[in-house]
Amino acid sequence: MDFGNKRIAVIGGGLGGMAFVNAALYAGLENIQLYEQAPEFTEVGAGVNITKNANIILDAYGLKDAMRWKSSHDPPCYMEYRNFKTGEVFGQIDEFGQPSSRQIHRAHLLEVMKERVPESILNTGKRLTSIEWDKTNKEYAISFQDATAATADIIIGCDGIKSAVRAHLGFADHPNYSGQMVYRGYVEYSDLSPTAAQELRKTVVYRGKQRHILTLPIGNGESKTARVGVIGFMTEPLEEWVSESWMAKAPVDKLAEHVEGWAPTCQEIIEGLRKNAERGPDKGLILKQALYVRDPIPKWYQIEEGETGSGIILLGDSAHSTLPHQGQGTCMAIESGVALATVLKNWKGEDLESAFAFYQGLRKPRTDKVTKTSYEAGKLASADVPEGTSQVFNPDALRERMKWIMNYDVLKDVYEQGAPYFEDSGNGEVQIQAQL
Ligand SMILES: Cc1cc2nc3c(=O)[nH]c(=O)nc-3n(C[C@H](O)[C@H](O)[C@H](O)COP(=O)(O)OP(=O)(O)OC[C@H]3O[C@@H](n4cnc5c(N)ncnc54)[C@H](O)[C@@H]3O)c2cc1C
Repeated sequence: MDFGNKRIAVIGGGLGGMAFVNAALYAGLENIQLYEQAPEFTEVGAGVNITKNANIILDAYGLKDAMRWKSSHDPPCYMEYRNFKTGEVFGQIDEFGQPSSRQIHRAHLLEVMKERVPESILNTGKRLTSIEWDKTNKEYAISFQDATAATADIIIGCDGIKSAVRAHLGFADHPNYSGQMVYRGYVEYSDLSPTAAQELRKTVVYRGKQRHILTLPIGNGESKTARVGVIGFMTEPLEEWVSESWMAKAPVDKLAEHVEGWAPTCQEIIEGLRKNAERGPDKGLILKQALYVRDPIPKWYQIEEGETGSGIILLGDSAHSTLPHQGQGTCMAIESGVALATVLKNWKGEDLESAFAFYQGLRKPRTDKVTKTSYEAGKLASADVPEGTSQVFNPDALRERMKWIMNYDVLKDVYEQGAPYFEDSGNGEVQIQAQL
């Protein structure tokens, strides 16, 4: 008896929620509905880097071609580090094997992950307002802002760092400001000189004093999606942040002030952002976001008292938010999604609490470590003394830092560790059937 017959409600249709839905369909959980607050599925930002550990999962779902159609194609290295003033190369980190990292526009990644999901399970304009346990019918009563309601046996909270589901579980903690603002935008290759365009055909970090620029070579020429995604991590006091929203817009000039005197390519990036921003609807403005992260929490789930088969669990940024300095937030959600769906589909018995506890035991040490090492990686990238290499900041040390993240196969781990608890198992060789 697994949880395949349970009604699952996924709250939030960002990259985390969509990752779980794909995983659920892949594992064979069919009784699932997703509720997203926005009127349509959309993502903003400046592209995202999806690394080997997550790409093996997306490839297993059969999304490889769709992903490659709109993502970069095998860039020459994983990351290159350059001096912010001279543009001189410190060194590079090589890729970690196949499938190599893919840089893609966020909206395109969401499209890819939505591609095979039946419309019948996707609900938009559904902002969760409350969850109540209905003792009579032994089910969750879920209410939305538009005065509609739904019911479910299991709720998966994929509603991001400001998660309402997390608050429902009783966590009253506040996210912590990282000390940095993030400026995000795009530069067209055609707006760059040939030298700068060539330089930015790979992922590059310009490492300055307590700030850095990260560029991603997103998309590709064939599908006409090639652009440079620019993310500027700039140390700024929170007090100067007047926007009530975490995500707002700022003039390109604000970013330009931070990088005055930086290398010629950085100046071209600023000019490219300006041109692009002028062409867009928000004349001259780019995204600016205060970067927050939460401390790890001890428990990601709750089971209804006296009910063995109903519960609520968190997934993605609601459970394990991380600073983006290792490019792992979405990748962790993809890993967590397939782990949770596999556990729910294959669990022996009807005790949801033990299934949730197993899942958390499998995932939390890894996501907690990612949260910690991403913080450290941010300190290394936005260094106090940015010039030159050191014992902790050199290509070998940086590559070593990332190896454990990349060379990990979550499906292998979940089947190996889950074998004693999974139906028809015992040898870790349970085969799940692709349902997509
Ligand atoms: C600057 C930056 C760069 C990054 N780069 C990378 C990268 O290169 N690689 C990587 O893997 N990760 C990266 N990340 C991390 C990644 O963006 C996040 O980890 C990921 O988007 C989290 O997805 P999520 O679905 O959990 O949360 P979110 O993206 O926040 O999605 C939550 C969804 O829930 C919906 N929602 C919220 N509340 C409700 C409600 N009450 N009812 C219904 N729906 C609701 C929202 O509308 C949204 O669609 C980066 C993050 C930042 C800030």
